[in-house]
Amino acid sequence: MHDDRQLVEARLERVLRERIRPAVHPRTAPLDVEIWSAPGEPVPVAEGLAAPTRPIAEGAPWGSPWGTSWFKVTGEVPAEWAGHTVEAVLDLGFTPRAPGFQCEGLVYRPDGTPVKGLHPRNSYVRVGSPVAGGERVEWRIEAASNPDLDASGVPFQPTPMGDLSTAGDAPQYVLGAMRLAVFDETVWDLVADLEVLGELMAELPVDGARRWEILRAVSRALDAVDLQDVGGTAQAARDELAGVLAAPAAPAAHRISAVGHAHIDSAWLWPLRETVRKVARTASNMTALLADEPEFVFAMSQAQQFAWLKEHRPEVWEKVRAAVADGRFVPVGGMWVESDTNMPGSEAMARQFVHGKRFFLDEFGIESEEAWLPDTFGFAAGLPQIIKAAGVRRLLTQKISWSRTNSFPHHTFLWEGVDGSRVFTHFPPVDSYNCEIQGAQLAHAARNFKEKGVATRSLAPTGYGDGGGGTTREMVARAARLRSLEGSPTVHWEAPAAFFDKAEAEYPNPPVWVGELYLELHRATLTSQAQTKRGNRRSESLLREAELWSATAAARTGFPYPYEELDRIWKTVLLHQFHDILPGSSIAWVHREARATYARLAGELDGLIAAAQSALAGEGTVPLAFNGAPHARGGVPAGGAAAPDAESRAGAVPPVPRRGGGYVLDNGLLRVEVDARGLVVSARDLMSGREAVAPDRAANLLQLHPDFPNQWDAWDVDAFYRNTGHDLTEVTELTVDGAAVRVERAFGASRVTQLLSVPLGVRRLDIDTEVDWHERERFLKLAFPLDVKADRYAAETQFGHVHRPTHQNTSWEWAKFEACNHRFLHVDEPGWGVAVVNDATYGHDVTRTVRADGGTTTTVRASLLRAPRYPDPETDQGVHRFHHALVPGATIDDAVREGYRANLPERRVTGAAPVAPLVTVDEDAVVVSAVKLADDRSGDLVVRLYEAHGGRARATVSVADGFATGRAVLTDLLERPLPDAPAVDGGQGDVRLALRPFQMVTVRIPRGEDPDGA
Ligand SMILES: [Zn+2]
Repeated sequence: MHDDRQLVEARLERVLRERIRPAVHPRTAPLDVEIWSAPGEPVPVAEGLAAPTRPIAEGAPWGSPWGTSWFKVTGEVPAEWAGHTVEAVLDLGFTPRAPGFQCEGLVYRPDGTPVKGLHPRNSYVRVGSPVAGGERVEWRIEAASNPDLDASGVPFQPTPMGDLSTAGDAPQYVLGAMRLAVFDETVWDLVADLEVLGELMAELPVDGARRWEILRAVSRALDAVDLQDVGGTAQAARDELAGVLAAPAAPAAHRISAVGHAHIDSAWLWPLRETVRKVARTASNMTALLADEPEFVFAMSQAQQFAWLKEHRPEVWEKVRAAVADGRFVPVGGMWVESDTNMPGSEAMARQFVHGKRFFLDEFGIESEEAWLPDTFGFAAGLPQIIKAAGVRRLLTQKISWSRTNSFPHHTFLWEGVDGSRVFTHFPPVDSYNCEIQGAQLAHAARNFKEKGVATRSLAPTGYGDGGGGTTREMVARAARLRSLEGSPTVHWEAPAAFFDKAEAEYPNPPVWVGELYLELHRATLTSQAQTKRGNRRSESLLREAELWSATAAARTGFPYPYEELDRIWKTVLLHQFHDILPGSSIAWVHREARATYARLAGELDGLIAAAQSALAGEGTVPLAFNGAPHARGGVPAGGAAAPDAESRAGAVPPVPRRGGGYVLDNGLLRVEVDARGLVVSARDLMSGREAVAPDRAANLLQLHPDFPNQWDAWDVDAFYRNTGHDLTEVTELTVDGAAVRVERAFGASRVTQLLSVPLGVRRLDIDTEVDWHERERFLKLAFPLDVKADRYAAETQFGHVHRPTHQNTSWEWAKFEACNHRFLHVDEPGWGVAVVNDATYGHDVTRTVRADGGTTTTVRASLLRAPRYPDPETDQGVHRFHHALVPGATIDDAVREGYRANLPERRVTGAAPVAPLVTVDEDAVVVSAVKLADDRSGDLVVRLYEAHGGRARATVSVADGFATGRAVLTDLLERPLPDAPAVDGGQGDVRLALRPFQMVTVRIPRGEDPDGA
């Protein structure tokens, strides 16, 4: 037979596009449209419904950037359409570009009942099936004229559209056709048949019989279609396809569990307030689709997004609640938001699960067992323990498929964290969280699946995200044809838990991946938007203090524990850990608001802390230092207050002039030489005699690199940034400022001021840096070349630290050229090491070189600032402050302690008497992560602790003030007793713990009998 394959394929494409798809709506009638544009920010629904409208015609411009317009749409179904299915097709002025990144709408009935969302690939509203003819129709549309930030067509260009204040007021859209239309369901089904078969055909081997069977059937179907009467001949065409559509899938076909989904970024290229509406539109769409499609299942993550519906869109919330009760609208993920997981600190990462799971439990009675993080930029090695401690067992992400260097070897595996906790993990091989059930996507999933031969199934999150409204009826129609179709993977709608149950059952011994899931992309998200990073770190530390001092004051003085305030502030901080806010990849509007929010929270938390400390300290004139850190310092116990000791009161050692210029800071334990350039040329540990700074090198060295990645400006720093750059060694002023050496430099359009000081009584150089930053597309690093031969270094992560090699032997290490740490980095040789701690930075690199003298220099560099221009063209412009400290002679214990210290400065107050700690621990390795009252407001005390050094530890935890330690129990993160936990009662009012390396435990201690019977 002659080969006409390409001829038939081209025919299918053109006839579908130009004849069959348009015939889905064969007859149309115009609607009357009126508009009212809200003068400023979005108005309540009732106000929008009642607003005065004026007529607007098709083709008329509307919608200033970020504006809201209310459309009134009215019309009458033509009488001659009686008996047909009729719907409205409402084109707000959609462009062919992706849904979710342009105008969107939510359709209401005149009484304010939401109907469904509108976007470019889902613009219909059903009128009736069948209609009687003559019906009056009326809807209102709340339409958002969100600007398309990539309207130029060239991605990642600086744009003023990312903030209301710079976006101008030019109309963004032109009203499209707003029509009533007859809906021909047979033609619509024919479209789905042909799309499924055409897409499948393209994935099949050309030399296989199945491809040709489909080709012949398609050819016959196209012959059967009369292009002058598509509606009248569509069924005949479908009949020609029935045979090839009925052929079942092979027994070995890959099995895809499709989960209806809409990945909605809680803020990104739009402000937080718009996400509330994106969620409302999407949830309205999905509850409508669930009502129409009995097999469809939809999963929505992020408790925050449910909470927004509950608070702001009660009419949508009620529909969601009903669909959740039916088990088909599935809350998934058990987290407050889909957060970043690299940067959130231990407690914050835990609270993401606490607040997410609790919301789903309280509102729906659902115990989420799947962590759902499809789009998060890498996964810290501390996460598995937190996931398990929250009562979650499984994790889903697809993001690691974005890695540019190495291909991850598994799709289904056990992920093991720093403490040995293992979580059953699945990476959907479809490599997308916006699957559309297209043939190419499904075939890719099947081919890509690395567990072939030992496992058979994968998950496909299916639907448009980001306000694109989720899954469409077309996707559901395609899935229906793919339940069992020869040549294709099978497709079934399933909730995530159902997928995981089957995946676990068929794969009882999956492979194991140990350590972090590092994303070999988006490394600059550890640095971009430095003030957002600082706000997060500061908030986390303040929340620790607020809980500690409030709980202590509540136990001691009856101080009212601020449950409401802490709950609200925690949720706000957790929201801002969303994977485009904390990573710094949102528009200017988001980060401007974030800075203001963090400032407001800091004020509130400082107020809570001051009130609790005032209650504890009482009236008096005794100078007290409150120590919120988990280690004693300056004569003040951890979690207590006392008069600071003499060294602590005296502060830092005064600088003395250095021969050859500069200054020497020598406190008898550490001798630091600052040269005339303001660089640290020596930091000698006087206890061991070891020099920390590498020979002929200088520490505290600011280095500036060009930083213009190939794409994803706020997200990416590309490896070539290190090829060029220069050291900032020119000093404009070097002076003594109190007990510090003051260094001032100017470079480019920027200035930097540093204060270097050595406190009395400790081996530590404090470095306080203020940068007035006005560079563009440059990367600022703070370097410490150390005379240490370290094959690996330790970087703090949640509830422990992770080791990374300092070499680049393999492509896996080479790709980790920028990585995350929390409060400390530590490098050492046996018996001697150095820590670098910080109060606000996360990105860093550690490299090594061998010198001519044979020694090894290990260079630790903290990443301070970048200046990408997309999506925020003014990223990082302005004043920034950083605290770092160099700790020569530091063990890992010292690194842990100094990390806490740097983030929890003591607070000086005056009062009546010292304050004894509520909780004391007799072992340094066991670190208190949180002291708080139980969230259930029972008054029970909750203490979370972890082994921080990476070894075994036994500790006695003593609790003062009327808590019944004899009834203390270990709990999960939600403060629920663990069923099989060992007893922890140590007698005599103590709790006894024996912890494995990095093990974290939550201890719940009930209130004791009140001796006064009050
Ligand atoms: Zn995302």
